[in-house]
Amino acid sequence: MKLLKPLFDNNRRWAQRINQEDPSFFEKLAKQQNPEYLWIGCSDSRVPSNQIIDLMPGEVFVHRNIANMVIHTDLNCLSVLQYAIDVLKVKHIMVVGHYGCGGVKAAMQNQRLGLIDNWLGHLRDIYRMHQSELVKLDEQTKFNRLCELNVIEQVANVTSSPILQEAWERGQNVSVHGWIYGIDNGLLTDLDVTIDRETAMGTAQ
Ligand SMILES: [Zn+2]
Repeated sequence: MKLLKPLFDNNRRWAQRINQEDPSFFEKLAKQQNPEYLWIGCSDSRVPSNQIIDLMPGEVFVHRNIANMVIHTDLNCLSVLQYAIDVLKVKHIMVVGHYGCGGVKAAMQNQRLGLIDNWLGHLRDIYRMHQSELVKLDEQTKFNRLCELNVIEQVANVTSSPILQEAWERGQNVSVHGWIYGIDNGLLTDLDVTIDRETAMGTAQ
């Protein structure tokens, strides 16, 4: 009986390689994690957080779900956000979408897919909010733009959450960024919607 033996073989080789480069790596990591970044990304198998930004275990705290969404009632995502900010004290939160997102595409089509339709409803809301801009675009451009708009809206959801607002009020420096990843070229693009404590507190007054 083969219980995914190739994956265990991969794992043994990987751990060995890391050990050769730094014999104390796992020992140090076992004692504590001290990541500076929280990555909120899509579950899509083509968008692996650590590989894309070439960071080692211990360097990025990760939350992934379908279409990289931050929903105000999603206790899973909110718990990650709260732990990352209050306990790990990350300095940067990046919401990372990607072009060609299956979740975004499904939301653009009026197809019934089951339970996930409830989740995708949030994306349909974003489509409706930006309908006047989106209806003018051809299908491909519209798809790309909705992937970007989704990131921008999720950045807004992070920054308007009580967790972030309270962190900024007590003087914690944490910035929120919106990025998008090209699965066809492996490149990240900054959507230039970064909000840090200074800009947030400035606009709040
Ligand atoms: Zn996706």
